[in-house]
Amino acid sequence: MEKKKSLKIGKAIVFPGSPNTLTYEGIVVDLGGRNSDLRIDAESQIATHGHSDHIAGLFLDARKKYLPPEDMWGISLMGRRMAVYGFSCADSALFTYDLIKEDLQATFSDPGVQMLKTPGHTPGHTSYLIGEVLYAGDAFFGQRVLEGFVFPFYVDFWRAMESLNLIKEESRSVEGIVISHGPVYEKRKMVELIDFNLKYGEKLVSHVKNALSDWATSQQVVVRVMESLGKKGDEISPTSVIMNEKTALSIISGLKVEYQTTEEGVKYRAR
Ligand SMILES: [Zn+2]
Repeated sequence: MEKKKSLKIGKAIVFPGSPNTLTYEGIVVDLGGRNSDLRIDAESQIATHGHSDHIAGLFLDARKKYLPPEDMWGISLMGRRMAVYGFSCADSALFTYDLIKEDLQATFSDPGVQMLKTPGHTPGHTSYLIGEVLYAGDAFFGQRVLEGFVFPFYVDFWRAMESLNLIKEESRSVEGIVISHGPVYEKRKMVELIDFNLKYGEKLVSHVKNALSDWATSQQVVVRVMESLGKKGDEISPTSVIMNEKTALSIISGLKVEYQTTEEGVKYRAR
């Protein structure tokens, strides 16, 4: 294992990165991204969810490997083929590339690990209580990440908010909380960050409501909200609009709106 800066929280060791990777007595959580080359050997490699920057550990030799089953479509052979080629043909010799075929277990149990279902970022997103530490993955984000992107990446914004409240409750009984994308802080500041994320979510909802005072498509809502939160010009790139649209749609789906189909797409207006 390469030498890399690490931080200790109780018996847990955190390797800062994006994601921050946690190790605890033979268990590694969310090895990926720039930490992929650490190749931390462990008995168990587990991931909070199936996004590509969280799953490098699942490619290493380990006795147990776990990914929440709701997120397995992201790495299954069929799912990858769909993502890459837009279709899948299991019998075709042309589409033989493969990710993780075997090894993944449908369940994971370890006396030292408690799973906490925290869907929202993805359908299967799971946080792990390991020893004295709660590893919350992408259930919430650092302030700079949030304010930089404007919309947090939640496929289901409303469930993400419920998950965040659950994490807030659980945070009382742990010594430390670690997230994937953001700074590694002591517990007190992490609890503040949870509150910041919850308030930010509320603020975002009210900005979306304001953007819907007049008819708007989901992309128009994103542009209006990004502008109202101080972004301008190149900061509102096509990529950011397309990515943020998913969360915006999820927020809109939970609001009281009327809608109509127009030449510019489906438009919504607050009722
Ligand atoms: Zn993710």
